[in-house]
Amino acid sequence: RLVLGIETSCDDTGAAVVDDAGSVLGEALHCQKEVHVQAGGIIPVVAQQLHRENIERVVTEALGVSGVSVPELAAIATTVKPGLALSLEVGLQYSLNLVNKYQKPFIPIHHMEAHALTVRLIHHVEFPFLVLLLSGGHCILAVAQGVSDFLLLGQSIDIAPGDMLDKVARRLSLRKHPECHGMAGGKAIEHLAQTGNQQQHKFRPPLQHYRNCDFSFAGLQSLVNKAIIQKEKEEGIQEGEILSCVKDIAAAVQHAVAVHIIQRTYRAMLFSIKNSILSSNNATLVVSGGVASNQYIRKGLQTLADTNDFAFLCPPPRLCTDNGVMIAWNGIERLRAGLGVLHCTDGIRYEPKAPLGIDISKRVEEDS
Ligand code: ATP
Ligand code: FE
Repeated sequence: RLVLGIETSCDDTGAAVVDDAGSVLGEALHCQKEVHVQAGGIIPVVAQQLHRENIERVVTEALGVSGVSVPELAAIATTVKPGLALSLEVGLQYSLNLVNKYQKPFIPIHHMEAHALTVRLIHHVEFPFLVLLLSGGHCILAVAQGVSDFLLLGQSIDIAPGDMLDKVARRLSLRKHPECHGMAGGKAIEHLAQTGNQQQHKFRPPLQHYRNCDFSFAGLQSLVNKAIIQKEKEEGIQEGEILSCVKDIAAAVQHAVAVHIIQRTYRAMLFSIKNSILSSNNATLVVSGGVASNQYIRKGLQTLADTNDFAFLCPPPRLCTDNGVMIAWNGIERLRAGLGVLHCTDGIRYEPKAPLGIDISKRVEEDS
């Protein structure tokens, strides 16, 4: 059985054909990041326009590379939630046209479920497992108990780590830095941090006295902004010029973000083992999302997993960010499990906001 997956929830237009066995037969991706970095952030109508301009080509290319024609597909799977309304609309409209034209079953996909399940395309990992999703729009700790069965342990109460790193990178004008040409904000910070001294600045990791698994990055961002303003004064430069201590700031920010993420994940490990949600002799931590490609954060999480007897798995970077493969794979998982495969698409809508699974964050907080 073959599934075509289509992704347009944010700023990437992706499509792929995946089979039952998890082989990727063909894939294509159009990335809008460059345009949005120039503009200083995603402008929804621009994202929508670019999805419209590229979706036909991307889907045709994925099908072409795979050598599969639409009539051969078992189903079409498409991201319908959560995401930018205008972006989701393009993928959904396009898919529904295909579905109706060829009378194919339709599988609506939750974007974060797809991120969480991607690992099963690459590695043999059984449910349940602990999953940490770190991206530009999300920060989630959950237990995946089944294809469509998640316990939400915690999430960011304000912004996501990728968003925060992008904002800090913008405030530091890293686009103008000679060593960071064309890099995403988080990537630029990682690059500069390698040769920076994190001891020069101390940014206290957020929520240290809270016993839950929630995250917060907005407060940390303002602490960093204050430090930047202070340094600009000391060095006698204006906003927009590059600080001489920029690498030290990058290293300290990256360290604080890593410590915060590690502390929350440790809490999630303790909670899920103690409450027998995960078994202590067979527990796995899966990490995905664009920020998971950060080697410093990843190493910290690897060490945390090792010391707590958790196996540690992370999909390859190209599958950690948005892509069509994960949507097609989620379609295969749902097809196999017989979950959410629609033969009638009447009333199907996109949903900009959609929680992942059952929220048990209060239980985590109350558990001692
Ligand atoms: P979502 O999937 O939540 O809708 P998104 O599509 O913006 O959000 P991704 O494509 O998964 O998220 O990730 C993009 C984010 O990852 C950006 O914020 C970027 O700065 C960050 N990022 C990329 N590389 C690195 C890195 N090496 N270190 C830290 N952050 C990084
Ligand atoms: Fe994503």
